[in-house]
Amino acid sequence: MRKLRPNQQRSVGRDAHRALYAEYMASAAWWERRREWERTELASTGLPAVLCVACNMKWTLRDDLHHIDYDRLGDEAHDDLWPMHRPCHTKMHQLIESSKSWRRMSRRFANVQALPVLRREIAGLPADEIQTLTVTGLKEFL
Ligand SMILES: [Zn+2]
Ligand SMILES: [Zn+2]
Repeated sequence: MRKLRPNQQRSVGRDAHRALYAEYMASAAWWERRREWERTELASTGLPAVLCVACNMKWTLRDDLHHIDYDRLGDEAHDDLWPMHRPCHTKMHQLIESSKSWRRMSRRFANVQALPVLRREIAGLPADEIQTLTVTGLKEFL
């Protein structure tokens, strides 16, 4: 079903990996994976809506699913993906990139470490300021 498996081509360089990632993000397979992810999440939580892991506000399929690592890109486990609004998601990437020690850790562990810091940071921001955070300067994968 999922034809695009960037994971199988990890020997390719960083730019090629990035291109594969961009291609996957635009693919029908990724959009189907997102719908499947939402169904699984709603069924497992029993809540009427999915909530953003950072700000705890309602998330929808128009929002982002953050890869906490890229090891299973194209064949993600449910827990590899975190629901986030674009501004919250952008802040998460900026936060991880801002820390030398987090950049050195496994991506997955760095995410787990960074999430409570991000939550505190977002909780302290006025709502309109969160909405105006931009994606400019975001160099890493989403
Ligand atoms: Zn959010
Ligand atoms: Zn991300």
